[in-house]
Amino acid sequence: MLKNDQLDQWDREAFFHPSTHLAQHARGESPNRIVTGGNGVYIEDRDGNRLLDAFAGLYCVNVGYGRTEIADAIAEQARELAYYHAYVGHGTEASITLAKMIVDRAPENMSKVYFGLGGSDANETNVKLIWYYNNILGRPEKKKIISRWRGYHGSGLMTGSLTGLELFHKKFDLPLAQVVHTEAPYYYRRPDLAMSEEQFTAHCVAELEALIEREGADTIAAFIGEPVLGTGGIVPPPAGYWAAIQKVLRKHDILLVADEVVTGFGRLGSMFGSIHYDMEPDLITIAKGLTSAYAPLSGSIVGKKMWEVLERGTDEYGPIGHGWTYSAHPIGAAAGIANLELVDKLGLVKNAGETGAYFVNAMRDAIGAHAHVGEVRGEGMLCAVEFVKERENRQFFDASEKIGPQMAAALLEQGVIGRAMPQGDILGFAPPLCLTREEADRIVDATAKAVKTVFKD
Ligand code: PMP
Repeated sequence: MLKNDQLDQWDREAFFHPSTHLAQHARGESPNRIVTGGNGVYIEDRDGNRLLDAFAGLYCVNVGYGRTEIADAIAEQARELAYYHAYVGHGTEASITLAKMIVDRAPENMSKVYFGLGGSDANETNVKLIWYYNNILGRPEKKKIISRWRGYHGSGLMTGSLTGLELFHKKFDLPLAQVVHTEAPYYYRRPDLAMSEEQFTAHCVAELEALIEREGADTIAAFIGEPVLGTGGIVPPPAGYWAAIQKVLRKHDILLVADEVVTGFGRLGSMFGSIHYDMEPDLITIAKGLTSAYAPLSGSIVGKKMWEVLERGTDEYGPIGHGWTYSAHPIGAAAGIANLELVDKLGLVKNAGETGAYFVNAMRDAIGAHAHVGEVRGEGMLCAVEFVKERENRQFFDASEKIGPQMAAALLEQGVIGRAMPQGDILGFAPPLCLTREEADRIVDATAKAVKTVFKD
C-alpha cells in the first residue's frame, strides 16, 4: 500500500477534483480525505477516522455502505459479461430486468426507461427527447425549458443551465438561451412574511403564469423540478404547490419533468416523490438511489404520452439519433437489481418515512428554538437547518462569516458528516435510508454541540 504522504502528493499533483477550490487544493491549503472503506452509515479514512456519513455520500448511498449482496452481483456480472452495448435492440438480462423493475415501481403512466450514467446526462437526454417530441408534433418553436431558481439538475451545458444556482453559471457563460427560471417554492424565504403557505403557492403560480405570458406558451416545451428542492437548500414545497403548478402546465400544454435523482427509490418515504406529491410527470429522472451509487447508472423514465410520439418519430425519420456507449451498462444494471431487491427486503422506503420523521422532529426539538436557527425542515430522510443572524426578520449572516461551512466543520470534529449547502447558511442531512433512531440521535447531538461551538453559547 502506498504511504499517505506519497498519495497526498499525487493527489495535489494529478487529480482534478470536482466542486473544489482548485488553487487551495493544489497548494495543500485545504484538507483532503482519502476514504478507504465503509459499513452501514459509517465511512473510514486512511487516518483511521470512522465517520457517520449523514449525507450518504452525495445523497446516494441509500442502502448504506458495505452491502456484499450488491458487490457479489457486480462481480458475478463482470465475470459473466462485463459489457455489451444496447444499440439496435441489443440488451442483457440485467438491463432488461432492471427496466421492468423500474417501470413496475414508477407512477402508472410511465412506459420505458432509457439508461445513462449519471443524473446530468439523464437530464440532457430528457431535454433532447422533449425537443424531438415537439419537432415530431410540428411545433419547432416550442423549445424553452422552465426551471426554478435553486433547482439542481446537473452541471453539463444544458443541465448546468437548468440548475438555478449562481455558482454553476458564473464564468461558464450559462445559462443557455433556451432556459428560463422561475420562483423557488421556498416558503421560509417568501416575499411577504404575512403570506400563508397557500398564499405563497398562489404567488409561485402567478409568477409562473407571468413568465409563460412574457415568453409565450407556444415557445415553452417543459417545466423541470425536483419534488423537494435538494442542493438548493433541501426545501419541501408549500401546501398544494404541485397540484397548482400542474394545472398551469396542462393549460399551456407544457410537459413536466420530475427530477427524482435524489427523491427516487424511497428517500421521501414513498417509492417516488411523484407518488408522494401526486405529480403526473411526463418524464422522470433517476440516478443515485437506483444503484445506491455502487455503480454509476441513471435513467430517464418516459411516460406513455411522449413514448407514442417518439415511436411515431422513428417511423418517419428512422432510428433515434441518441445513445451512449455505456447506456444500460450490465454492471450498473446488476448493481441496480441487487440494490432495489435490498431496498424492498429491508423495508427502506418505510424506514425513510418513519425514522426520517423521527430524525427531523428530534432535530427541531434539540435546536429549533436557538436564536440563530431560522428553521429546521425536512421530508422523509432529508433534513435541513437554516441559520440566520436574526430570527425575527430572517436576516442572513454576512457570507464572509461562512456559518454553513463552519457548522459542517464543527460537526466533523465530532465524527459526523453533514453538508454545507452551496447557497445560504444551510446545513443539510440526507443519511442512508437504513438509519436507525440511535444513529439519528447521534447526528442530532453532534449538531446541537456544533451549534454551541460555532455560536460560542
Ligand atoms: N438532479 C438532481 C436533483 C441532483 O441532485 C443531481 C446531483 N446531485 C443531478 C441531477 C445530477 O446528477 P449527477 O451529479 O449524477 O450528474
